[in-house]
Amino acid sequence: MKKLIIIGGGLGGLSTGIYAQLNGFDTTIFEKNPVPGGLAACWKRGDYLIDGGIHFLSGYKPGLSLYNVFKEVGAHKAECVDIETYARYVDEKSGIVIDISADLDKFQADLLSLFPEDKKKINHFIKATRGLSKTDISEFGFKEPLELMRTRDWIKEYWQNRKALKYFMGKSMKPVREYVKDIHNPLFRDLLLYMFLPSVPIVFLWMVLSFVSQKQMGVLKRGSLDFAKKLEERYLELGGKIEYKSQVKDILVEADTAVGISIEDGIVHNADFVISAIDGRTVIYEMLNGNYTNDKINEIYSKWKTVDPFVSVSLGVNMEFKDEVWMTLFKTTDPVIVAEEENDTVMIRFFNYSPYFAPEGKTVIQVDFETEWEYWFVLSKDKKKYNQVKKELAESTIEWLEKRYPGIKDKIEVTDIATPYTYWRYTLNEKGSYMGFLPTADAFTSNVEKRLPGLSNFYMSGQWSMPMGGVQPVIYSGKHVIQLLCHDEGKKFSTNKKG
Ligand SMILES: Cc1cc2nc3c(=O)[nH]c(=O)nc-3n(C[C@H](O)[C@H](O)[C@H](O)COP(=O)(O)OP(=O)(O)OC[C@H]3O[C@@H](n4cnc5c(N)ncnc54)[C@H](O)[C@@H]3O)c2cc1C
Repeated sequence: MKKLIIIGGGLGGLSTGIYAQLNGFDTTIFEKNPVPGGLAACWKRGDYLIDGGIHFLSGYKPGLSLYNVFKEVGAHKAECVDIETYARYVDEKSGIVIDISADLDKFQADLLSLFPEDKKKINHFIKATRGLSKTDISEFGFKEPLELMRTRDWIKEYWQNRKALKYFMGKSMKPVREYVKDIHNPLFRDLLLYMFLPSVPIVFLWMVLSFVSQKQMGVLKRGSLDFAKKLEERYLELGGKIEYKSQVKDILVEADTAVGISIEDGIVHNADFVISAIDGRTVIYEMLNGNYTNDKINEIYSKWKTVDPFVSVSLGVNMEFKDEVWMTLFKTTDPVIVAEEENDTVMIRFFNYSPYFAPEGKTVIQVDFETEWEYWFVLSKDKKKYNQVKKELAESTIEWLEKRYPGIKDKIEVTDIATPYTYWRYTLNEKGSYMGFLPTADAFTSNVEKRLPGLSNFYMSGQWSMPMGGVQPVIYSGKHVIQLLCHDEGKKFSTNKKG
């Protein structure tokens, strides 16, 4: 049996390990943390469970072809709750509150009554969302690694998705920030801009809302770590091994062939193949000293932006928030100072949809602010100041909440702050990026190579091996990389364990 080492036990590394085991490799994952999951992380604070990861996901129940892949990796066993509303949007200046509802008729009617001057755009937006709901596009572009797709595979892929194709061409690939330019009402413009990220192509919003409207978008009942543990369970059942608390220091190369790794304590582990499922820049330019790149790779790492990280203030509160939507986006008139700048967009997650985050009658709420990496990185060098700034952010966030949820201040039992530096320290992802590269329209139509030029027996999976991260892409990255490996080895790829 050929030996395979995987660096990193996040969702990408675990998925890679599962498909490797299914295809007869003897696999060991080396993970620096004591638990799996990486960015899919949860931690206990007193009686509360803080979820620092995945907001929402699709693929967890039958109905979409993506579900088959979830079944292959055991992710379908993670309990989810369907979301009825993508998010609530509150514009404090006008006092307008909009629920981005799974019921597209209702959402459309709400938008038309609020923004009649934008009737044409509203109808276009909803029509496209409805159009995408009619075909199962959950695996479009993901069935096989692009490296292995021949013209006839593309023709088949396009034919199967022909009804949805028009939504992936021309103006549909424009970034949201351009799509909204001719919207008359600034509030409607902001609603679309802040629904996800202004840089994503507009088709991305249609896809997300189409999944919500099909009741195919949900939140994890037991949190992100439980989700990761379902993949770990499947991997271990298939005979895979994991070495926790093992940080990989170097990738060992002989005659331009990866032959193993060394870990922090200097111990060497040899293997026939090495697959990295960790931060791409560290691997390519540090561990491999930039010896195996080409213009395309250099361009990606010099020009593509990473997703701006979050700073999250999580609170364990002795209160119930039964009437709140699971996620509320505020455009506030009362900005919160974050990284010394006024921040007028505040995102709150109310973990009120499951009993597993807090004792009865209590709730975890999490306030997320998009922020910049550099500020927090520099600040982290001075621990006293770093802790002081965190404390001040918690206080101003609580003051802000008190004005909107009177009485909350005295009911807070637990406060926890995760900065971009926290995310970096825990996962070593560049600039604390929670999703890899910024999902721009350009990235959407690009491929990131999973092999490096000139280096044999080495592959990459995980969020840095895809144009954008996220649960679905990283799970597929694990499948794709083993499809490639099997192809290179002249083996038939299988999703069933042999013998
Ligand atoms: C707050 C937040 C919200 C999110 N929301 C969503 C969402 O709603 N929907 C969605 O689809 N996705 C979401 N994501 C993104 C998604 O969770 C990630 O894209 C995905 O989990 C990345 O998986 P990965 O395995 O590629 O990387 P990682 O999770 O970073 O895994 C890499 C692993 O490698 C380990 N490691 C690093 N360096 C080394 C080393 N040298 N040696 C050994 N081990 C090492 C790390 O500890 C880590 O466990 C969110 C992420 C966050 C943080």
